Formats: sequence, structure tokens, C-alpha cells
Amino acid sequence: MTSVGSTVGILGGGLSGLLMGMQLKRAGIDDFTIYERQSDVGGTWLRNPYPGLHCDIPSHLYSYTFEPNPDWSMVYAGHAEIQTYLRACAEKYGLLAHLRLDTSVETARYSEADGSWDLAYVRAGDVAPATVSHRLLVSATGGLTEPRIPGIAGRDRFLGVQWHSAAWRHDVDLTGLRVAVVGSAASAVQVVPQIAGQAASVTVYSRTPNWVVPRNNRLYSDAERAALSDADVLRRVRRRQYKESLLWFQAAQKVPEAMDTLRQRTFSNLRASISDPELVAALTPDYDPGCKRILVSDDFYAALALPHVRLVPKGVASLTESTVVDVDGDETEVDAVIFCTGYRLGSRADGRPAVAVTGRGDISLTEYLGERVRGYRGFATPGFPNYFTVCGINGSVGYTAVFAAAELHTETIAGMLERFIERPDLLSVEVRTEAADHYTDAVQAELATMSWSGDCPNFYRDAQGRIVSFYPGTIGRMRRELRAMDLDDFIFEVRPPVAATRP
Ligand SMILES: Cc1cc2nc3c(=O)[nH]c(=O)nc-3n(C[C@H](O)[C@H](O)[C@H](O)COP(=O)(O)OP(=O)(O)OC[C@H]3O[C@@H](n4cnc5c(N)ncnc54)[C@H](O)[C@@H]3O)c2cc1C
Repeated sequence: MTSVGSTVGILGGGLSGLLMGMQLKRAGIDDFTIYERQSDVGGTWLRNPYPGLHCDIPSHLYSYTFEPNPDWSMVYAGHAEIQTYLRACAEKYGLLAHLRLDTSVETARYSEADGSWDLAYVRAGDVAPATVSHRLLVSATGGLTEPRIPGIAGRDRFLGVQWHSAAWRHDVDLTGLRVAVVGSAASAVQVVPQIAGQAASVTVYSRTPNWVVPRNNRLYSDAERAALSDADVLRRVRRRQYKESLLWFQAAQKVPEAMDTLRQRTFSNLRASISDPELVAALTPDYDPGCKRILVSDDFYAALALPHVRLVPKGVASLTESTVVDVDGDETEVDAVIFCTGYRLGSRADGRPAVAVTGRGDISLTEYLGERVRGYRGFATPGFPNYFTVCGINGSVGYTAVFAAAELHTETIAGMLERFIERPDLLSVEVRTEAADHYTDAVQAELATMSWSGDCPNFYRDAQGRIVSFYPGTIGRMRRELRAMDLDDFIFEVRPPVAATRP
């Protein structure tokens, strides 16, 4: 029998799920539960403690605007410091009592009869799922939680150690080992310089080179941190860092000057470390900056220039007992293989969605979105009443911290939930199909002109080539649009009157 849970269920205890909880508290709503399948809050930053992991957006932007942290130790903080910050925020806002940790929500099914969401969840150690219902559901399950390892023949034959960067083997000492790194994108540029200091040799397999601009990371001095405790100083620093981040947005818009600046920054970064023309050529992308995520690193190119580090500008075809075989059949003897091969967007290791969501008329969210992209302002989907997402379809911005869009979405969702909860006569709130279609068509038309739609392999496009994650505008535009949103775009369905019963 399904028990009746709190009014609001929140799926995920990463920075977005925690933020949803904070916004509800700020709106005076205390009746909510946050489900998190890991054993603590923090999402990505708890899940990925690999060496070298730092944020690629300055920390003063990669934080909640209403919880600034003048004490960030460096311009781009490491994962442990970010995780500590998120946990401290969860504590400060009294969210710990709302958390159900080690609890994986498997399915969420909308009940048309009473307008609630029935969840089936499994707690660590439990065999059978338990069920609970919530009147309203917010999904904040993130997109990049499950590691993706490409199908490479012979992986099971390899006698050395192998792992994905997201499941780092801290128990393995790489000192003196011959290591292969598969991939050369966001994780690899952080991992390679770290392991190059220990391993006897490092061979980096790269199918596609990336645009890698200097991060210019550095520690803040005590004097700077003291100055940053003044709210005005911090505001000015944030404003300057945000303005700088707009360069990436301009590259996404294919502004020629922005792309030239990024090209020039990459080449001076590259040439400062590498003089071998063949290696420079192998590291030079043949697509415009902005088509794939722009990477930031101060030490990746320098690591590749070390005598015991080698770039193989090819994909991996297979593993044997002791070697990595590239697509041209060349073999390299290794003791360890580290996969820096990214994540399964929004799904679990076996390809199932993070949560199997079923809406009105028994429609699965995955199948619904597989047929056509149809979302509304990144937080609502027709056919899925009383259900909202943080940074959902076309809801993320690629050029600045996810915090910015997540704050706008959670603020909007909290407003919708407040309005709904005040009206016990309401059965459901659901975005109109026409409104979602109109919005999605406009957004998709705009995205088709942007660099993410360009000629490069990137994980932003789905199997049909549609960009489903990104919003095409700036945060300022998203804010204006969300605050001007027309409530007539939603259907507020009133509960049918209960038939009078005879005494
Ligand atoms: C290695 C790495 C580095 C990154 N660096 C940056 C960066 O520098 N800058 C940037 O802007 N972005 C970065 N990102 C993107 C990053 O994911 C987001 O910035 C941020 O973590 C998103 O927060 P979130 O809460 O939305 O999602 P997540 O952090 O992914 O949190 C989602 C949570 O939901 C939980 N969950 C999922 N499914 C279920 C379920 N069925 N039941 C219960 N719980 C569930 C997960 O366990 C997870 O804790 C990075 C991502 C990765 C993987």
C-alpha cells in the first residue's frame, strides 16, 4: 500500500535539489522530502573525487548568489571544497532533516484520479521497493551522474587495472605504472597532469582535439579573502567574472571576434608548452571554438610535452591481456587503463532513465521526449502535471555556472508550488501543449543557428541531432522571460466535486 508522503517530493540531492529545498524554505514551505541515492548530498562533487577535479567556472560564480563564500581558497576551487560548501549550505538551511539518503527512486507514476505522484524507491540494503505518494514532484537528478565507457572489445581480457575517472581507484598507486588514458576532454585535461607526476609512462588516446584555454587558477591571498568579505567587493568580482564568461556565450553565437579570441588563447597556451609541429597539429581542432565545450587547463599541454607522456591522436579499438590497440592496430603495453570518456546523459549504467517517469495516459517521459522535444522554459512538460524539472529540457546555459539557471528555475517552481498549495481545491497544474510547442519551436530554431549545432562530435545533440540541454540565451534573458511568464500558459485543473452521499 502506498503511504502518503510530504506535499513535495524532490528527486536528487545535488546542488539543484538542495537549492529547490532552500527556495521552498524561503517561501515558507517546509513539507518536502529530498531523495538522494548517494550517501550524502553534493551530487557531482561527491560522486567524482578524481585527482585534479576543479570547477571550470570561477568559484564566486559557481555558488548560490544568496550564499556567497568569500573564503574560496582559489579562483577555481577543487571538488572537496565545493562539496564542503554544498554540505554546509544544506545544514544551514535545515535540509538534513528532509533528506532520504541512500534512497534510489526507481519509478514515478502520475495518478490522474487524485493528481498525486506515486514513487517506488529502494533504500540501500532493502530488497523490495517501497512506495510513497507526493502531491507535487520536482526532478533535480542532474544529467552527468553515470559514467559512460564505450564498447571496447577485450575489456574483460585485460589483466591490468582499469577504471572510469568517476569511479577513481584511490587504492591503486600509479607510481611506476604504464598508464593509458582514453579520452582527452574535460576529465582527461585534469587527470593527465596529475598522474603524469607518478606514472612511468602515460599514453593519451584522443579522437577529437579540444579548444583548451588557460584556466589561470591561483590561490587567493589572505588579504584578498578579507576584502571579499565586503559584499560590494564580492559583487564587483562576480560581475567582472560574469562579464568574462560572456565570451563563451558569444562563441556559442558564432561571433567571429569571440571565436578568434578563443583560438588565439588556445594557440598561445599550446605554443607556450609544445613546439613539435606534429603534436601541435594533432592538438589543433578542425571545428570552430564553441561547438564542443571549451576546456580550461593550465597544465594539460605542459603534461603532454613531458618525455614520458605521449598523445595518440586516434581512438581505441580493443584491449588485449596487456595492451591497448588503437584503431590503426598499433599496440601499447600498459598496466592500467583510465577511461575519461564522459557520462550517460540522464540515464543509469544500463541505459534506463535516472527515474522512469510516467505521466498522464500512461505515457513514459523517455518515449514522449524521444518522439519530439517538447518542454516549456526548462521546467515544465505537457502531459506531466504537478511535475517540474530544474534545468530540464533546454534549461541549462553552457557558458556560466549551472547555479544561475538553477536559481531561476527553482525560484519559478517555488512560486508555482506556493500558488498551487494555497488552493486545496486544485487537482493539478500542467503546462498547455500549445505553449510548450510554441516555446520549443522558437528555441530549436534559434539553437540551429548556434555553434553547438556545428560540425563536430558533441554530447549536446540527441540521436536526432536536436539540442535538448541548452537554452539559447543569456541568464539575463532567461530571468526576464521567466519573470514575465504568462500563467495562462498553464491549466489549473479543479478537483471534481465529491458526490454527496446519503446518510
Ligand atoms: C566531473 C564533472 C565536473 C563538472 N564541472 C562543472 C563545472 O566546473 N561547472 C559547471 O557549471 N558544471 C560542471 N559540471 C556539470 C555539473 O553536473 C553541474 O554543475 C552540477 O553538478 C549539476 O548539479 P545538479 O544538482 O543539477 O546535478 P548532480 O550534481 O548530478 O546531482 C543530481 C543528484 O541526483 C541524484 N539522483 C539521480 N538519480 C536519482 C534517483 N533515481 N534517485 C535518487 N537520487 C538520484 C544523483 O545521485 C545526484 O546526487 C560538471 C559535471 C561533472 C560530472
